[in-house]
Amino acid sequence: MFTRSSACYKRAIESIPGGVNSPVRACKAVKSDPIFFERGEGPYLIDVDGNVYIDYVCSWGPLILGHAHPEVTAAIYSVSKKGTSFGAPIWQEVELAELIKSCIPSIEKVRLVNSGTEATMSAIRLARAYTGRKKIIKFEGCYHGHVDSLLVKAGSGLATFGIPASPGIPEELTKHTISLPYNDFEAVKQAFKEYEKEIAAVIVEPVAANMGVIPPKKGFLELLRELTSEHGSLLIFDEVITGFRLGLSGAQGAFGITPDLTCLGKIIGGGLPVGAYGGKAEIMEMVAPEGPVYQAGTLSGNPIAVAAGLATIKELLKPGTYEKLEALAKLLEEGLKEILEELKLPYRVHRVASMLTLFFTDKEVIDFETALSSDTEKFARFWQEMVKRGVYLPPSQFEAWFVSLAHGEEEIEDTLEVVYESLEALEA
Ligand SMILES: *Cc1c(COP(=O)(O)O)cnc(C)c1O
Repeated sequence: MFTRSSACYKRAIESIPGGVNSPVRACKAVKSDPIFFERGEGPYLIDVDGNVYIDYVCSWGPLILGHAHPEVTAAIYSVSKKGTSFGAPIWQEVELAELIKSCIPSIEKVRLVNSGTEATMSAIRLARAYTGRKKIIKFEGCYHGHVDSLLVKAGSGLATFGIPASPGIPEELTKHTISLPYNDFEAVKQAFKEYEKEIAAVIVEPVAANMGVIPPKKGFLELLRELTSEHGSLLIFDEVITGFRLGLSGAQGAFGITPDLTCLGKIIGGGLPVGAYGGKAEIMEMVAPEGPVYQAGTLSGNPIAVAAGLATIKELLKPGTYEKLEALAKLLEEGLKEILEELKLPYRVHRVASMLTLFFTDKEVIDFETALSSDTEKFARFWQEMVKRGVYLPPSQFEAWFVSLAHGEEEIEDTLEVVYESLEALEA
């Protein structure tokens, strides 16, 4: 089944660290070798051996329209013929900025960058410059890209300073990062009590999606808004996944919370490398060349990425798109729950909008620690069984499955059948 993939991988590890250009693709967490892909078509992925899969990775979120959407590929094609990058402004950048602003009212000015990592890195720099403070609060299990100061593990105890999560990051670069458990009201209050005038910003995934999907507890985001306002700190929503996923106005629209700064990525690039950060004009005006906070990019706002992003958002603006996504994802969620009930399995299904995780645990999952109660061995085998039957899931327990507009009821039904067979195979 994987003859060609195996050959590709063998060659890849000779030239690329681990054979992949981003670690989770290596499929180590599911005890497999990576599958090499040839092409994508709507909800389907086709690998180099010709195997066909229903895809729930969707490039880790960007492909909300599915693979090779005709409007997106047409936009890329027609724009690329006129030049791929000018290192000078184009009017379509303005159009994308205006479109983002009109969807997300908390964004009054926005700067395009090339990845989610760049967006969070720049937002943190800006928050520190604006407040004149150093400390950042983040939450354990929330991922904000591989920015040095945000790549931290929590220490023991509650309000602890982050320990570098990777060699190559000096403690000096993480000592101003305070890592707290997600959804822990007391820990946040405590941290603000202890460091009240030192906290530049709180950065949070308003719905956690990088430790599996974990929604915020009722009142948690409100508390973050309240405490940051009260203490002169900024609230940064990392909506790199949730932006244009939970609706046109992202998680902030869905929960009715207005952050000071927002980070975007993934969907706004329509499958090309894009990120963005934006927020209150008064804060964004500090960014160079309007202000003193330096941030730049050779390929930022390049015509092709902007065209893909514009085409994607324009599709999303059509009536009924989010209703369709909601209905499809709900069908998947309910089907999964029925199967678990029928097979008398105690696992948990979390769904927020069109993101979903099946946690292999019978414990309530509210943060990183409780997510870790999942049986990752079992998930690994489940992933393998699913792949064997033609469904490609994210190769880790702690990731979101993404439903796209290209998925239909038929694909969801097929998926559920495969889930049933796979879970049965696991228990056999
Ligand atoms: C993917 C992701 C990032 C990083 O984006 P890249 O484009 O991979 O650098 C940041 N924050 C969140 C919430 C993400 O899901």
